[in-house]
Amino acid sequence: CGIVGYTGSKNAVDVLLDGLSSLEYRGYDSAGISVVCGEKLTTIKTKGRLQNLADLIKEQGKPQCHCGIGHTRWATHGEPSDLNAHPHVTEKLSLVHNGIIENYQQIKGKLLSQGYEFSSQTDTECAAKLIDSLYSGDPMDTIRKAISQMEGSYAFGIVFADHPDKIYAVRQGSPLIVAKGEGENFIASDVPAILKYTRQYYLIEEKEIAEVSAQEINIYSPEGEKVQKPLLTASWTV
Ligand code: GLU
Repeated sequence: CGIVGYTGSKNAVDVLLDGLSSLEYRGYDSAGISVVCGEKLTTIKTKGRLQNLADLIKEQGKPQCHCGIGHTRWATHGEPSDLNAHPHVTEKLSLVHNGIIENYQQIKGKLLSQGYEFSSQTDTECAAKLIDSLYSGDPMDTIRKAISQMEGSYAFGIVFADHPDKIYAVRQGSPLIVAKGEGENFIASDVPAILKYTRQYYLIEEKEIAEVSAQEINIYSPEGEKVQKPLLTASWTV
């Protein structure tokens, strides 16, 4: 029910956990993170409180990466469980999702016939595997193709193993912002997640796709044109 993403010079795990804790008020039943460095994805996720996730990360050893995504889940498809927790991962990518993919059964059928196997009951795993199946090496182009096949609501945060410094994000019907820091940038479902780090952010509109690195934020229209947006300043107090 909350997503967050970070790319910059800090340890991504710290920022992700911190951001997720600021989204706790939205309610959740599971939590998880994926970080990427050296073209390797590391994912840690669990049912239950954020403290469970923090304990698990401590137990497994905190990854030293500078880019990643995090999620708190409010289950809609599939019970709260470790396997159904996000992120959902393939060899190529990791994805977090808020919302509901209405036509996931249809997508799942197609992917099963292509030989994909599924380990969760979620609609989200279908989105991750659909993007995996379409991946051409060009994240923007692939995401555009994938969302043209999906119906329902989503805010996605995605990292690709072969683009280890970047976060990709897109939304339809679920909230999403991209926040701008100094040599670091963020995505989040809501402003409180980033207030500790910056107050400046962009509102992402329906089907716009954001490509976010530590130095740069590029936002594209659904047709693939680069869009210029006003940089907003949060007046919230923490
Ligand atoms: N529909 C997805 C699931 O059940 C995402 C739920 C959410 O927004 O947290 O896993």
